Amino acid sequence: MRGFEKNKKIFNLLSEAVSEGILVINQERIIMATNHRTNEMFGYEDKDINGNNLNLLIPDSFHKVHNEYVESFSKSSGQRRMAHGRTLYGKRKSGEQFPIEVGLNPFSIDGESYVMALIIDVTGKKEQERQIKELNAQLQQKIETRTQELEQTVAKLTKEIKLREVAESKIKSALQKERELNELKTEFLSLVSHEFKTPLSGILTSATLVGKYKFENQQEKREKHLNTIIGGVHLLTGILNDFLSLERLEKGKEVYSYTKFSLSKVVNEVVYNANMQLKDGQKINYPENIDEVEIIQDERILSLVLTNLLHNAIKYSSENTDIDIKVELRADEIGFHIIDQGIGIPEKSRKHIFKRYFRAENALLIQGSGIGLNIVKEHVENVGGNISFSSIIGKGSVFSVVLPFGTL
Ligand code: ADP
Repeated sequence: MRGFEKNKKIFNLLSEAVSEGILVINQERIIMATNHRTNEMFGYEDKDINGNNLNLLIPDSFHKVHNEYVESFSKSSGQRRMAHGRTLYGKRKSGEQFPIEVGLNPFSIDGESYVMALIIDVTGKKEQERQIKELNAQLQQKIETRTQELEQTVAKLTKEIKLREVAESKIKSALQKERELNELKTEFLSLVSHEFKTPLSGILTSATLVGKYKFENQQEKREKHLNTIIGGVHLLTGILNDFLSLERLEKGKEVYSYTKFSLSKVVNEVVYNANMQLKDGQKINYPENIDEVEIIQDERILSLVLTNLLHNAIKYSSENTDIDIKVELRADEIGFHIIDQGIGIPEKSRKHIFKRYFRAENALLIQGSGIGLNIVKEHVENVGGNISFSSIIGKGSVFSVVLPFGTL
């Protein structure tokens, strides 16, 4: 103790020039010396602080920690900052606590050990740190809020874009459909003006001639012309029906309705109508195995399909040929075969035969629109069936349709 007393003047001289607080304690933790800055920091006069236990300057709740810390420090040697990374607190005379940073330096004079503490009041620094932390937290919060808002806006925009895309594609496909329908109508108009000419002029001629056969013995001739008229009207009706069917299919408006019906009734009707179109010496051989058979299918579609195929068979065969209708009844499906002895389909045309408006070159001199098979195929597939054909040029063709019985 005395050793330090001896040098106190030098201490005072040196320590007053330092801006940090300086405090020296001995091994018993008695305060040996303080500089002016320390006194000012803790609010004591020199005489009130010197000779007191260090605990005077430490808040009560920190006494234990401080003591342990200083002890462990005294055992080890060397200079270091006290409780680095942790906030320490000092206690002013007024009892107020305040944050401090402390650097400890051990030394000894005349065999006595002392510790010199360099003390900095970091109240301002802590306050700044706190403010910075608070600002950072506010900033963070703002960023999060803005990010959330942005995310919401982006999500909204994405949704809107999607909706617009959907709307746009709907409009596009509606426009496309509209365009296709318009094309279809234009095509049909040119087709009508071309295809209707021959049957219409046939009807006109026959109608004119019928009027000229006034006598009873001319009945046969009259009937011939009446049949020509009926045939012509059937032909025109067929083309119109095909077109209406095509339009309904194009617009997606075709509705299928499945009912239970007698197969022979439909086949009879179809054959009855087809008989009127037969050429001289042509004959339709009716299937023998369909009496009492009932199936569940779309009756109108079956009639349309058979009518078309039978009409083609008649049209593309010459006089004095037979047309066979064969029916194959299986467990859950039914097969129809329309067999003719006609002109056949050229090899190179076969892959196009179901395309709309396609007509094989050997058929060009015969009346037709190239719509029928296209519609037939679409309907058959829509009701769950399939259509195929085989043909030998010059010998004849077989068109086969397989339909499921269907369920009610
Ligand atoms: P259209 O008979 O009005 O021309 P379809 O779509 O019914 O139209 O037939 C398309 C084409 O298929 C016909 O033009 C013809 O070349 C060919 N075709 C269809 N059925 C037969 C058949 N039974 N015999 C020979 N060719 C046929």
